[in-house]
This record gives sequence, structure tokens and C-alpha cells, in this order.
Amino acid sequence: MSSEAITTLDLSTSGMKHIASGKVREIYEVDQSTLLFVATDRISAYDVILNNGIPGKGALLTQLSAHWFDLIRSRIPNLKIHLISTSLPSTVPDDLKDKLADQTMQVRRYPILPIESIVRGYITGSAWSEYKKSGTVNGMTMPSGLKESQKLETAIWTPSTKAEAGQHDENISKERAGEIIGADVARKVEEVSLQLYEMARDYAAERGILIADTKFEFGFDPDTKGLVLVDEVLTPDSSRFWPADQYQVGKSQSSYDKQFLRDWLTSTGNKGKEGVSMPENIVQATSSKYAEAYEKLTGKKWT
Ligand code: ATP
Ligand code: MG
Repeated sequence: MSSEAITTLDLSTSGMKHIASGKVREIYEVDQSTLLFVATDRISAYDVILNNGIPGKGALLTQLSAHWFDLIRSRIPNLKIHLISTSLPSTVPDDLKDKLADQTMQVRRYPILPIESIVRGYITGSAWSEYKKSGTVNGMTMPSGLKESQKLETAIWTPSTKAEAGQHDENISKERAGEIIGADVARKVEEVSLQLYEMARDYAAERGILIADTKFEFGFDPDTKGLVLVDEVLTPDSSRFWPADQYQVGKSQSSYDKQFLRDWLTSTGNKGKEGVSMPENIVQATSSKYAEAYEKLTGKKWT
């Protein structure tokens, strides 16, 4: 991976309007119908962004997302996707083109459905917390006796609200999702999300990675009145990846990509603190895990 992490950006010389900053990505407007997503090398853990980044992470996640989009195009050809290309618009100066090569996506801009479409194949995280308290997940009664991290009989759709920046998303029932986006649209989102997850889960499992859960977002195409798959897909930032060879039911699982970082933050008393810098060995170890995930999932060498 390249040696310097890109954590901040100045694209003012490109003439593009800056639209928004996420924890990890910066969004620019290319023209009325096109957005540019730049995945930076920033990394967050326990909801806090670290001071320094992971060199190459933005490129890796962009290329991984692009790999999944290709796979989705071939395996679920009826589903429309927002990705136009992973190259930069011609108006961008060459120095920026070189600097940001591989970590940008131009996408078609759509109105976004105001829910997060989460699919879970294993019970963990907020679903496990709710189940322990009430035996339900997003209000749905689940079989009794499930253990932490257990694989569910069938994957379930557990939508959440899409909170404003800084706020937390809230899990909601399918009925509530239906009230927000319309019952017919909600049913379609559920069906497509489950189809996507099951395809990805099986593909990744054959390559040594368990996708415990994942989040999709959908746009709405006003012309066709159909759904469009948007945002990043099936990356470790939008999903929980677990190493298959370490999977053990009845306990929390280590994260494929962020475990070194989380363990280090916890053991040094830095968990949840702002302005923390990772030491070089944690950057290196984390970087290798990202590369490993990319290589397993794509079958290509990460350089
Ligand atoms: P976080 O960093 O926690 O994810 P965030 O969601 O605000 O916060 P980003 O994920 O970087 O930050 O923001 C991406 C935004 O772009 C999301 O609001 C997403 O819904 C939106 N988006 C994704 N694809 C498209 C698209 N094709 N057209 C319009 N908006 C899109
Ligand atoms: Mg987001």
C-alpha cells in the first residue's frame, strides 16, 4: 500500500462542489445527475475517527465495492446499480487524478430511501442485545435458546432509520419501514436485500470470510419507478466480516479488519476517546488485514 494516508482532501482546484463529509468518505457534485465519492484512508472504531489513517484503505474499499458491483451485475442482472465508473471526471487536474487513483467512484445521483436496509445472517451487535432482553429482534419474535453469534436459520431483514450525521440509527419494525417508504416498496427492498446478502454470504463463506450482517441503501429511480442499489456495498465498513476459521458460537467474534485496533484502544484506555493516533504497528497490522480480506474476496493480489 502507498505510504501516506490520505485523511483530508482539497479538491477546490477541480471546480467540483463539496456536498458532504462522512466518517470516511467525502462527496462532491460532478454535475446535476452525478456524484463523486472519494473514500479517504480514515478509519473509525467505536464511532470515533482516529487521527491518522490506514494508507491505501480508501482505494482498497473502493475496489472491493467495485468488485461486488461487478458480481451483482452478473448474478442479479435485473437490479439497477448507481456506479458509473471508478475513474475521475476529465475536469480534475492530473496531480489530483494521480493522488486519488483507485479511491473514487462516480455514481448516478438518486433520491435515497430514508431507511437503512440491514440484513443479518448471524445474531450479534444490537440484534443480540435486543434478543437477550426480550427474545425479539426489531420486534420480531425469534426462536428461543439462540446463542451469541449463532447463525440464523434464515437471514432476516432488520431495517433502521437513517439518522442525521452524529445521531444514532434506530432499529425499526418492518411495519414501521412500510409506513416510512410505503409497504410495497418496503417489501421489494426486503426481497432484494435478502437476495443480495445470501449471494454475498455464500460467495464470501467459500473464501473464508463470514458476513455476519450488512447494510444496503437504495435509491429510487423516478423514471422506472424502480429501486437502485447505491452507496458502498459489502465492505468491512458497511458489514461485519468475521474470519471463518475462528468462528465460535456463544461469544462475541473478533472483527476481520478492526480487531487489532479495537484491542489496542481498549488495552490502552483509548476506547471512545477523540484525537487518538495509532502507532505504526497497529496501522501495519490493520492494513494487512484489509489486504487479506481484499485478496480472499476478489482472488486478486492487492498491490
Ligand atoms: P457514515 O460515515 O456514518 O456512513 P454518512 O452516511 O453520513 O455517515 P457517507 O456514508 O459518506 O456518510 O455518506 C454517503 C451519503 O451519500 C449517504 O447519505 C448516502 O445515502 C448517500 N448516497 C449514496 N449513494 C448515493 C447516490 N447514488 N445518490 C445520492 N446519494 C447517495
Ligand atoms: Mg454512510
